[in-house]
Amino acid sequence: MALAILMLSCNYEGSRPKLAEKSDTKSKKPLNIILLIGDGMGLSQLSSSFYFKVGHPNFARFKTIGLINVTSANLKITDSAAGATSFASGIKTYNGAIGVDMNKEPIENIVELLSKENYQTGLIATSSITHATPAAFYAHVASRDWEEQIAEQMSSSPIDFFAGGGLKFFQNRQDGKNMLKLLENKGFDIHTDSLVQKIDKSKRHGFILGEEDMPKMIEGRGDFLMKSTQIALSYFEDNNSPFFLMVEGSQIDWAGHDNEADYLITELLDFDQMLGSVLDYAEKEGNTLVVVTADHETGGFTLSGKITGQNSKGEHEHDYNVIVPTFSTTGHSAALIPVLAFGPQSSQFSGFYQNSDIYNKIRIALDK
Ligand SMILES: [Zn+2]
Repeated sequence: MALAILMLSCNYEGSRPKLAEKSDTKSKKPLNIILLIGDGMGLSQLSSSFYFKVGHPNFARFKTIGLINVTSANLKITDSAAGATSFASGIKTYNGAIGVDMNKEPIENIVELLSKENYQTGLIATSSITHATPAAFYAHVASRDWEEQIAEQMSSSPIDFFAGGGLKFFQNRQDGKNMLKLLENKGFDIHTDSLVQKIDKSKRHGFILGEEDMPKMIEGRGDFLMKSTQIALSYFEDNNSPFFLMVEGSQIDWAGHDNEADYLITELLDFDQMLGSVLDYAEKEGNTLVVVTADHETGGFTLSGKITGQNSKGEHEHDYNVIVPTFSTTGHSAALIPVLAFGPQSSQFSGFYQNSDIYNKIRIALDK
């Protein structure tokens, strides 16, 4: 498996499928927002879809591309908590912070802001739903490690739909509380077995499908990410009011930490598959702004040529037609991060700016 992936050479032909982006994107406001976060997804991770996907990567369907600086308020290299808080609340804060500023004070997030305007809201992740990235969209705690507190705050959040892992933070807790009961009292249907296609549109829904994390793709997660996203979209559509949906490919980051290229590439291609179905939806509806980005790069990942030997000066010789992914760190890096946008007001997202500007640009796009 690993070899098959690593030794595959470039199969990307260079011609791109056409996506009919409406010409009035400069003036028209979007109704819905879909924010897609590939945790740890730097440019090399994104690039791997162009070399290791059979067929065209969905990343190639975007025309509007920007770059963000992702430093946190206290460090040059951010973590997911500070990164997600910058997207959710429009501020830079310290590494480890979930929805709080440098003084550990709660800062309103985009979910809270839009739910006051009658938006439906949803979160999907391949980590536990209490992990740093999704947590920053509904919780306010001083440390990302306080996952039981984060789980508790789901019940007081306006979230209508969520899917991910993390059952152990909702039941069998150290404090003995049963958060699943509390969520049901707040109008949630909680599903802990599998993704159910037919759901009661009059209720809120939580899919908590793993004790902690969702399985890796290479361990059989299947199409959870795309399926749960499709279920969320049809739930929102039937309820007939605008929506904000955040979907995270959480484990691209973990594969980077592990320096495992086949883990990374399979997670990245899973994200690309979900992305394809989101773009199909946005293209069909014409009223949805899709923004794709990452909190930071993980692993110092790069797509190198295969080393074939050494010349007389002791320098490596390479086969530039065979890509061998390599890593330079087991941590995060400071690389600038790509932003891709599609739909009404997508032009707001071109250029160079800060991670915290994503939040501001979404508000400008919505005129809110
Ligand atoms: Zn990480």
